[in-house]
Amino acid sequence: MKTGRKLQDPICSNHPIPAMRPPPLSSRASLFLDFDGTLVDLAARPDLVVVPDELPALLQKLHMSLDGALALVSGRALESLDALIAPAYLPAAGVHGAVLRTAPGHTSTSMHALGDIADCLYQRLQPLTNLVIEDKGAAIAVHYRGAPQRAPEIEAAMRCALNGHSLEMISGKFVFELRPRGINKGTAVGALMATAPFSGRLPIFVGDDTTDEDGIAVAQALGGFGIKVGEGRSAARYRLPDPAAVRGWLFPGDFPGRLPSEETP
Ligand SMILES: [Mg+2]
Repeated sequence: MKTGRKLQDPICSNHPIPAMRPPPLSSRASLFLDFDGTLVDLAARPDLVVVPDELPALLQKLHMSLDGALALVSGRALESLDALIAPAYLPAAGVHGAVLRTAPGHTSTSMHALGDIADCLYQRLQPLTNLVIEDKGAAIAVHYRGAPQRAPEIEAAMRCALNGHSLEMISGKFVFELRPRGINKGTAVGALMATAPFSGRLPIFVGDDTTDEDGIAVAQALGGFGIKVGEGRSAARYRLPDPAAVRGWLFPGDFPGRLPSEETP
């Protein structure tokens, strides 16, 4: 007999969850992968990340084995992602979903006229020592890993700069960013899951930062699951400790990274 009581889903509680290792990657998966902090270790600046030599070819091979249903979903511009994984060439969502490439030659962009925002930030945030202002065309990010004490000042300057624009401010690991309102990694996953070869498969989102939670939520709402990389609150059902463990999970036996089974829970 039904009691009518709605059970609370602890996965959706967005509270810290015990580390749970994900099951082996299914050949039925639609795989959505964040890049920085997920596939590669974070660096002091985005242009300083180190991509393991084996990674591009292994990603391309995995893309083929999933019948094309593998996409990178990153805050980076597509050009930046492409350069980092060349000669691999994959479906991708760049700038948090503002730029979507479902297949080679099929790219759509939700551009926003950013006007003088970048100029404004350059002026307000002088001196720029240890700051990186990244104009991505559809969004602007200020990376401050090298000057964490300036976070309040940067946040205030960006809030001022977005005034009157249809933008929203998001924050990640030592980065503030202005991006088009209503566009996020979740909308990117939803758009990709509506198209071949992603549709009809099991969505899996892997990410390390707060901006990945939108993608994790959509993957889980569509019957799949999310994998949180590293520490921090997440709605993800599973967790891996670091990019080396992600690579070990994605490429068991092929990649000289640590396997999830080698991690302590
Ligand atoms: Mg990341």
